[in-house]
Amino acid sequence: MSNPASQHFALIPAAGVGARLGSSLPKQYMPLAGKPMLQYALDTFAASSAIAHTFVVVSAADGYIDDFLATQPQLTGKITVLRHGGASRQESVRNGLHAVRAEVGDDDWVLVHDAARPGLNDALLDKLIAALQGDAVGGLLALPVVDTLKRSAGRTADPRVRDTIPRDHLWAAQTPQMFRYALLQHALDQAQEHGRVSEITDDASAIEMLGLMPKLVEGSPRNFKVTLAQDVALAELFLQGQE
Ligand code: C5P
Repeated sequence: MSNPASQHFALIPAAGVGARLGSSLPKQYMPLAGKPMLQYALDTFAASSAIAHTFVVVSAADGYIDDFLATQPQLTGKITVLRHGGASRQESVRNGLHAVRAEVGDDDWVLVHDAARPGLNDALLDKLIAALQGDAVGGLLALPVVDTLKRSAGRTADPRVRDTIPRDHLWAAQTPQMFRYALLQHALDQAQEHGRVSEITDDASAIEMLGLMPKLVEGSPRNFKVTLAQDVALAELFLQGQE
């Protein structure tokens, strides 16, 4: 049963290198509209009265986070850095969950959010939390797919369509993905034990492997993941347009 006293914690995996962006700086520190990418998500969570605390998972070798936080007095006391990044996003999330074991209750909610989605704002965060209040499983922000989807015959320099995937009922997953601490940790541990980690590309997929059905809460195009060099200009357009 859900516990009405459950708190909400944010967990931001930020241990990637962002190879597809082609920058020498790790993606999460890349400047976007004058601020490092990671700062947008941290500021949004730190300013939210719904979030009890935010944990950010960086790699043990991260040489930027301390200098960055030293310039952000508004985040003091609201953010804890976990130097437990793993080889994959899911490993970083799993390591982060284990590291906060003593601070988070089994029934508390954990909102896992990509550092590479700077467009999350207070309205989207509140929408997700409100939609999942009392939910037995949890859920995620996602967008209904509007484009027709083509599958290519393989990774070649001259891609050709093999077939078309019906887009009915398809959604593109975003983050935050919000689950209760113990359930998410159990789901990720189970995937690891059963050698299915490579099949998990987000937190919800680990929950789905348990036979549960996460709730889809409609997100926003502004919450897209900055992945490629050409995404930077679009992200800046969204970010400059915000309050
Ligand atoms: O690379 P991609 O954009 O898919 O990564 C999504 C999120 O996962 C980013 O915030 C990235 O920093 C994080 N990540 C991580 N540890 C890894 C790889 C990615 O925390 N080993």
